Amino acid sequence: VSRELNPVDSHVMLGQHLVGGGRFTVIAGPCGVESRDQLLSVAEMVKQHPVAALRGGAFKPRTSPYSFQGLGEEGLKLLQEANRQTGLPTVSEVVDAADAELMAQYVDCLQIGARNMQNFRLLEAVGKLGLPVLLKRGMSATIEELLLAAEYIVNAGNPNVILCERGIRTFETATRNTLDLNAVAYLKRKTHLPVLVDPSHGTGVRELIAPLSYASAAVGADGIIVETHLKPAEALSDGHQALNAEQFADLITGLRPFVEAA
Ligand code: PEP
Ligand code: MN
Repeated sequence: VSRELNPVDSHVMLGQHLVGGGRFTVIAGPCGVESRDQLLSVAEMVKQHPVAALRGGAFKPRTSPYSFQGLGEEGLKLLQEANRQTGLPTVSEVVDAADAELMAQYVDCLQIGARNMQNFRLLEAVGKLGLPVLLKRGMSATIEELLLAAEYIVNAGNPNVILCERGIRTFETATRNTLDLNAVAYLKRKTHLPVLVDPSHGTGVRELIAPLSYASAAVGADGIIVETHLKPAEALSDGHQALNAEQFADLITGLRPFVEAA
């Protein structure tokens, strides 16, 4: 995935939308798929904006086994329904190599979460499918380890990899993670792969999502993936960092110079 071997920016197709190659991509949706009503209504809201794809987890990797774990295949079916209703391609996290093929029947892009960045069997499994992969940086992974994880996917036969900086663990506790924008600027020089930023998990603080989104655009990110919910206070996961419809609209307004320049 080194730029030395391939100096030209690669791009990845998400449905009809091209990620990378100088465009600024916005992917948005809830942290988790919670119900038909929740997903379809947030998808309709997102669709009002220049958004490339709808995100939503059906298999949620939760710290506590007592937290909402996602709807599983039922959630995948709802993502497919949301895609049919809105035309938005869908992105959802795969947590187990055994689920990869099933997920490919329902969604347009497989997300590898931070907790699985070095799950090498999972990387190989998504590498064997042609589907775009959104590979998130592990919370304690170096940039080199992220790039080598991408190599696993590409080596297995799938060049459609999008990298994602989602914040790393540091001594700081005021924010959920420390969004490493160094990594974004560095990655853009080191690899030809598109690089997105996740300011939702990167900060874990709703008020910081817009400023860090603008900062991401300024350092050369190819876009953002952001969590949004029509009723953040009722969300079953990550409600504290979800933007409501109005906050999301304001973010998109602020990003317009980047999205339209694309
Ligand atoms: C998510 O996108 O909801 C998620 C769990 O992200 P991460 O793997 O970056 O923590
Ligand atoms: Mn989340």
